[in-house]
Amino acid sequence: MPTSSIVAIGDELIGGFTLDTNSHWLAERLRLLGFPVKRITAVRDRPPEIVDQIRRELADEEVTHVFSSGGLGPTPDDRTFGAIADALGRDLIVWEETQARITRRVQRMHEAGLLDSPDVTEGNLRMARIPAAPLQVFKNRRGMAPGVVYEASGKHIFVLPGVPMEMKGIFTEELEPQYLSVGSAVTVRELRFTFAVEARFYPLMTELEQTFPDVSVGSYPNFETKELVIRCIGIDPKRVEQVIEIVRSRSAQLGMTAAG
Ligand code: AMP
Ligand code: MG
Repeated sequence: MPTSSIVAIGDELIGGFTLDTNSHWLAERLRLLGFPVKRITAVRDRPPEIVDQIRRELADEEVTHVFSSGGLGPTPDDRTFGAIADALGRDLIVWEETQARITRRVQRMHEAGLLDSPDVTEGNLRMARIPAAPLQVFKNRRGMAPGVVYEASGKHIFVLPGVPMEMKGIFTEELEPQYLSVGSAVTVRELRFTFAVEARFYPLMTELEQTFPDVSVGSYPNFETKELVIRCIGIDPKRVEQVIEIVRSRSAQLGMTAAG
């Protein structure tokens, strides 16, 4: 079973300035594609902390696909490529194709009046300095930083930019068709109850945990809408359906009727 993990990188995420929407978006896409996420972590732009987390992902035998986002920008506070190089035990090298793309992009931006100078800066060039021996370097049609995939410890490690539009573009246009087309999505079924008391599901959920260990059953109250969602997730659609029917009938016996 393919299993993913996500490492979101950036001081702004940890500081509470920016909401980590990349991980949320990736987690949904990966579930739908059949590469469900086991763990999401967020770390600061500090190389030792990035290295530690990437090594942890590499050591996890269950994880087959690792996704990082962020820290690929042109300023010195973006340090992901150096840290990934360390974690993989590889040198940083200049990727000529990316460098050429950056050069062309700077020239086009200069011609369009968006940049004062057509000269490529040291900051721009940092984005072309990537850990050696990539499996593939993605182009990124929307920005300068490339996306890169490595193979290590029997896993794929995808290194993606933090800018949400760029990350999503690389993912859907370049990465997904090539690396994530063979998965089969888990089945998700939900029941919604209004004004249901969550605690009343306790005995039933404990029982289901034992009788259906292959189906995860979660209870998610929403205090604004007064709605309680019971969500069942599993690989086998029949088993998930069985659990849903049990929850439906047993909650009805308790006087709680599911809306859908
Ligand atoms: P970076 O690739 O680290 O230079 O990120 C560029 C910009 O993308 C940041 O300034 C953030 O605004 C945004 N960003 C980075 N990581 C995330 C994330 N996980 N979720 C949402 N936005 C992000
Ligand atoms: Mg950053």
